[in-house]
Amino acid sequence: MTYVLAPPAIVSLPVAGSDLRFPVRRIFCVGRNYAEHAREMGYDPEREPPFFFDKPAGALIEGNGDVPYPSQTSRLEHEAELVAALAQGGRDVDPSSALDLVWGYAIGNDLTRRDLQAEAKKLGRPWTMAKGFDGSAVCGPIHPVAHVGHVTSGPISLSVNELVRQSGAISDMIWTVSEVIAALSKLVELKSGDLIYTGTPSGVGPLVPGDIVEISIGVLGSISNRVRHR
Ligand code: MN
Repeated sequence: MTYVLAPPAIVSLPVAGSDLRFPVRRIFCVGRNYAEHAREMGYDPEREPPFFFDKPAGALIEGNGDVPYPSQTSRLEHEAELVAALAQGGRDVDPSSALDLVWGYAIGNDLTRRDLQAEAKKLGRPWTMAKGFDGSAVCGPIHPVAHVGHVTSGPISLSVNELVRQSGAISDMIWTVSEVIAALSKLVELKSGDLIYTGTPSGVGPLVPGDIVEISIGVLGSISNRVRHR
């Protein structure tokens, strides 16, 4: 095969405690998966099935990398999230076996141009430029299930300049990781290498250049990123 252009490099993430890398295929994200966060965004969390949006794989910022403050926004916000990384795909996956697809877990930050998102909601427009911009998907190293087990409980927290902004529990998810995988697999055929950001607890808020953002999730440890001017 001869391509007319050099094909893009495979996007990948480090595997914790290893020199190996996890190849990333797609990035899916769940909206409003913690009740307190749904309420802070002005929604009733009780009766809503999970919904999804996505980010391009090229939007990843790896591990402790710097976050460039994006263009065309004056309201960049953090969202600390558990990320599930899939070893296998599937369609119409049963929730009882959905965790069998997970290769590992990571700490993520679903960065959001909140002002553009609010405008998109108001006008009924897509969220793509609010959620899928360059550098919008921070993700730490992937911790294999073989080492850390399945992450179904434990604390999740985020601090900015050492002040805690978000503090929640993985067990507070409205839809569990199993249920999220099952629901998403009804909409698309999942594939190995897919990442799923599983939603953020309450306390989302703004970031400015110079901020140091630290996110911790129980057994996964923590990641730290500095926000810088583009
Ligand atoms: Mn999110």
